[in-house]
Amino acid sequence: MPYERVNSTLFPGIEVWIRRDDTLDPLISGNKAYKLLYNLLEAKARGLDAVITCGGAWSNHIHATAAAGARFGFKTVGIVRGWRPKELSAALQDAERLGMQLVFVKKSLYHRRWEEGFLEEVLGENYKSALFIPEGGSSWAGVKGAELLGRVIKESASVNFDQVWVACGTGATFAGLVGGLRDIPVIGVEVLSAGDSIANSVDRWLTMSGESISGALYRTSVEECLKGDLIGVEGSGLLSGGHCGGYAKCPKELSSFLIRVERDTGIPVEPVYTGKLLHALSVSAKSGRIPAASKVLVVHSGGLQGRRGYM
Ligand SMILES: *Cc1c(COP(=O)(O)O)cnc(C)c1O
Repeated sequence: MPYERVNSTLFPGIEVWIRRDDTLDPLISGNKAYKLLYNLLEAKARGLDAVITCGGAWSNHIHATAAAGARFGFKTVGIVRGWRPKELSAALQDAERLGMQLVFVKKSLYHRRWEEGFLEEVLGENYKSALFIPEGGSSWAGVKGAELLGRVIKESASVNFDQVWVACGTGATFAGLVGGLRDIPVIGVEVLSAGDSIANSVDRWLTMSGESISGALYRTSVEECLKGDLIGVEGSGLLSGGHCGGYAKCPKELSSFLIRVERDTGIPVEPVYTGKLLHALSVSAKSGRIPAASKVLVVHSGGLQGRRGYM
């Protein structure tokens, strides 16, 4: 049963459920599995036998791509930010063991990963028979994969959820869920301090889907939780200010919160995505910002391999 009811005083006044996409597969799990699906089908349809992608030392996407390549018969190349360290992160060690070729590039070059000419500069002519998947798996195909997840939730869950919460890095998963869940509001918790960049990417993807979510995206910060409209009543929106000090930062308050979550629920979480998501939900529920008795579904987007970076 992918939906688990959560009983914890951390989320007062609402009914919280978690969809356990962390348990989808031992290696290709969480939102990265959905984001890879249509990318790999495209590689197969085009007769490409290799996949190139990029990310940081603890990237869940690099990890999942290496595993999917090994499972489904694609060569994989991972372009990694920064020089090769003496000791690789556990995530990159796994990736190499799964057969991924790692190519380390200096940060100034990595910054140009969204630009044309990047692949040629890093890999020469070798990239031409491979599918390139951008960082985080956040391509249009990635958005379509998350949309599939949204449809699965909408059409098959036995609970009628009032809102669905998900962690946002690039916003591709959020954008796909908005498309797939239709009239069910989706709340995306931004896990980094990114200005408007997540909102802008989401706008672009929603425009491509022909999806208009009425008016501008609802945006507020966790600190502003006591003011303004109740979360979710205006439809889907992004919640900023819940990054707990920045991407991948885990201050003491967050780590003690995570210990409580795991003790109360028995569900494993990690600090980078799902931990911050649940923290923002807890703050919002405690300050009475979610309509009373709402049935809230939290998408567990996986990423548990990354916990090894915090031990
Ligand atoms: C990558 C990732 C996200 C963020 O997904 P986006 O589509 O980039 O917003 C959320 N949760 C986990 C566990 C991830 O690995």
